[in-house]
Formats: sequence, C-alpha cells, structure tokens
Amino acid sequence: MSDEIKKRVCRCCGRRFDYPVAKSGATRFHCPDCAAIKPELRKIFEQLTRRLKRHEAEIEKLKKQHP
Ligand SMILES: [Zn+2]
Repeated sequence: MSDEIKKRVCRCCGRRFDYPVAKSGATRFHCPDCAAIKPELRKIFEQLTRRLKRHEAEIEKLKKQHP
C-alpha cells in the first residue's frame, strides 16, 4: 500500500532515506535534512546532484570504452 515504508533517494543530496517515517520531515523527494533547508538552497543542491549523476554515468561509460 501507499503507506508502506520504502527506501527513497533524496533528489537533493542523493542519499537514501526511509519514507514515510512518523515525525520525520522527509517528503517524497527529500530526506529529512534537505526538507529542512530553504527551497532556494535545495534547488541549487538538486542541480549539483543532477550534474554529479551525469558525470558519474559519463565516467562509467568511458571506463567501459577504455578498460
Ligand atoms: Zn537529502
């Protein structure tokens, strides 16, 4: 069901967190820590995390091309 606790990945800092957890400030997309910071800052972190993920994927691709 929808209230089942699941592991989610924070789209802001990239860490895994349980959701939903009672008394936790976490949201569907943000861990408790990131849910507590200002939306403006969250936006910046989300952009950086997206870039980081892209770079990681790119590095993996290059590694496969050049073993
Ligand atoms: Zn987070």
